[in-house]
Amino acid sequence: MFTRTDALRLDDACTLKHKRAAFSIPEGMIYLDGNSLGVLPASAMTRVKRTVEIEWGQDLITSWHKHGWGELPQKAGDKIARLIGAEAGSVVVTDTISINLFKVLSAAVAKRPGRKIILSDSGNFPSDLYVAQGLCSFMADGHELRVVEPEEVYNAITEDVCVVMITETDYRSARRHNMKEITAKAHEKGCLIIWDLAHSAGAVPGQLMDVNADFAIGCTYKYLNGGPGSPAFVFVNPRLQNEILPALVGWWGHAQPFAFEQNYVAAQGITRMQVGTWPTISMQALDAALDVWADIEMVDVYAKAQKMCALFVELAEARCGAHGVTLYGSRDFAHRGSHVCLRHTQAYAIMQALISRRVIGDFRAPDMMRFGFAPLYNSYVDVWDAVEVLRGVLDGGLWDVEEFRERKAVT
Ligand SMILES: *Cc1c(COP(=O)(O)O)cnc(C)c1O
Repeated sequence: MFTRTDALRLDDACTLKHKRAAFSIPEGMIYLDGNSLGVLPASAMTRVKRTVEIEWGQDLITSWHKHGWGELPQKAGDKIARLIGAEAGSVVVTDTISINLFKVLSAAVAKRPGRKIILSDSGNFPSDLYVAQGLCSFMADGHELRVVEPEEVYNAITEDVCVVMITETDYRSARRHNMKEITAKAHEKGCLIIWDLAHSAGAVPGQLMDVNADFAIGCTYKYLNGGPGSPAFVFVNPRLQNEILPALVGWWGHAQPFAFEQNYVAAQGITRMQVGTWPTISMQALDAALDVWADIEMVDVYAKAQKMCALFVELAEARCGAHGVTLYGSRDFAHRGSHVCLRHTQAYAIMQALISRRVIGDFRAPDMMRFGFAPLYNSYVDVWDAVEVLRGVLDGGLWDVEEFRERKAVT
């Protein structure tokens, strides 16, 4: 039987173990929510302090040149590009996922006149579906969002579809779509494709250029540890960059922003995806956070993610299964993301009991406890200890108290 000593041994042999020291993890906390808000890298803390005290505090407007504020969206974008299988110059950091989705979706729809269907699936993150619904009702010309089951996506790609809009890694089940097959089918049918990498970037190996994806979007506050509300990224395949025009444009995407011309002329390349001024403090935090990844290969990250998830499920089923805890979603550990959802009728209260004992995951309606495993800072011992705390909460019925049943607004 697997023991805590075995977990310690796995940690000792892990090639990523030195990375944990790059993060500021609160003492005594087992943080398993890096898929929702990554922990603070020490480099980001230093950079924010410098940005506030020196760049904002002393150098003020001269910082645009002196401290390279103007290049941050592209510079951070290039660091992310390497992790998601894209090339330098094809990713820019700006806005939020939802806004970036609006931009690429509007640009893609305009490239396929005559086709009226935007295709997505029921496993997609609701905000993505809302953005598509909003765009359809704004256009008011018969465009329509078609939502199918995740297993039906491949067959639902037909010649009336203008854009396929899919999230690679499901935020609940962790199931990964086959990017290669779906992208190829989309192109075969003449559709454009947008991949949402929110739960993929920093967790699974990138393959955007390998599969010849058209567009991708993703956020930076999850596995990339950019900090609360840090700006998102958008990828446009170089072959399309100068061929598209989003419905939302602004001066930072203009060919000459400081010419202050009255008419919009799109910048060349990925720059045209920029709209307005970015949150510089947040952008600096992200840029510094991304340096932690400079010597990392995503295959190593993914290998550890798969092992941690498989171990967590194995231990949870063996030690907590009798209490009615079951796995939600994919058991295919070779093809899934880096988080695990466990179901239980009292999932909300159990998660509150875990959080009060410093094991931090989150709750997803209606009955899921979600645990994210960030291979750069989570250890195999974290996995072991978290299951032990869960077992203790269940064995002792420690979740069954009034304070753990009250729902908070952010779960
Ligand atoms: C987290 C997440 C988002 C969040 O979008 P924001 O606009 O950045 O808040 C979008 N899509 C998916 C799939 C997500 O997991």
